[in-house]
Amino acid sequence: MLAGAPKGTKDTLPERVYKWRFVEEKFAEACRLFGFSEIRTPTFEHTELFARGVGDSSDIVEKQMYSFTDYGNRSMTLRPEGTAGVVRAFIENKLYAEAQPTKLWYEIPCFRYEKPQSGRLREFHQFGIELFGSTDMAADTEVIALADFFLRGLGITALSLRINSIGCPVCRESYRGILKSYLEPKREALCDTCQSRFERNPMRILDCKSPVCRELVMDAPYMLDFLCDECGAAFNSLKRNLTAAGIEFVVDPGIVRGLDYYTKTAFEFVSDQIGAQGTVCGGGRYDHLIESLGGPAVPGVGFGLGIERLLMVLEAGGVEIAPPNGIDVMIVTIGDAAKNYAFGLLRELRAEGLSALMDDSGRNIKNQLKYADRIGAAYALIIGDDELKEKKATLRNMRDGTQREAAFSELAGIISTGAADADDVQDKAKE
Ligand code: ATP
Ligand code: MG
Repeated sequence: MLAGAPKGTKDTLPERVYKWRFVEEKFAEACRLFGFSEIRTPTFEHTELFARGVGDSSDIVEKQMYSFTDYGNRSMTLRPEGTAGVVRAFIENKLYAEAQPTKLWYEIPCFRYEKPQSGRLREFHQFGIELFGSTDMAADTEVIALADFFLRGLGITALSLRINSIGCPVCRESYRGILKSYLEPKREALCDTCQSRFERNPMRILDCKSPVCRELVMDAPYMLDFLCDECGAAFNSLKRNLTAAGIEFVVDPGIVRGLDYYTKTAFEFVSDQIGAQGTVCGGGRYDHLIESLGGPAVPGVGFGLGIERLLMVLEAGGVEIAPPNGIDVMIVTIGDAAKNYAFGLLRELRAEGLSALMDDSGRNIKNQLKYADRIGAAYALIIGDDELKEKKATLRNMRDGTQREAAFSELAGIISTGAADADDVQDKAKE
């Protein structure tokens, strides 16, 4: 065999893919209810977009990007996150000229060269939303409310919403100095990555997952205590709004988002059920990103929600997702005439909305029935020469083994009611 799937990637097999479909439908529905429209952007962009958008000094741009030179000698990158591409599309398509704010959602694969572990992959998937064009904390509240609505709607209760403010370029500048003087004497003891963060991005040190660094920054000064008046007022307004919206939250001054572009609001939905990578959804405000990517001075706020981690939380919390209905009927044929006839019959049954199939690998009757059983077909219809003449055949209920005669003309009716009843009984048994 060839090499297996690349490290840090995952196959999603049919036995589990319906769970993806389920959360995808729920997310699309939540977005519709909140007035967000879907946007689709390319999987790769010019490398420069991420260098400028995500930030040169971020870990992502420094060492995690899947970049390549294409045949036209341009540097391209598989997107490591969703916001930069959506901002580019917003600018390029002049969406800012339409009714503001602009509210968008997307579902995308993301690529980061990470050290794979539970909840951390090299190709992973995100739901994301972006709200462009409002500085009002009502916008941040709606963004958080959408995530909260979606997650609660899935029946997830064991997630805590943590919020923080990481200030604006003005208050962050003076805080940087304060943080650096606090860290200076501990500098040697920090992990290698954090030593290099010290000059270029000291706030990221507060977010380091290494136990040594965690210990060292235990009582570091927090940005939250040094907010300017405007940022302080905004944070208070956010807290009031969330309370009014009935959304529980904890203020966590330790939250520092991994991307460079955030300002003011930063938030995460965190689970303690899926191990160290417990952040299912992370987001915040980015008031200067659009401008720095060459667009108008339009503020933004949004989040990214990791779908693999979401499914881990659902599975850890024992949230049941019903598998889709299976095959309604398998036509078991005896002889060539019956087989020919079956093609037409299948067409009619499918037109009635029934999932129907027949043997397509030349099996004998015994093995056809065995197969019908293995795939969990609700019914098997057995037809041979006599049945064709009489236009009726034996219909076997595969779940209870009972059989009856059914005229071809009444097949669809019998199967749809019977299959629906059987699903009901099964669902009841599960409850
Ligand atoms: P983390 O704290 O895990 O490093 P991050 O701050 O890098 O996350 P974001 O860039 O904000 O995460 O991405 C939003 C969400 O996407 C995360 O909260 C997480 O659920 C998911 N995510 C991020 N990186 C990965 C990954 N490598 N594998 C799986 N999911 C991921
Ligand atoms: Mg990360």
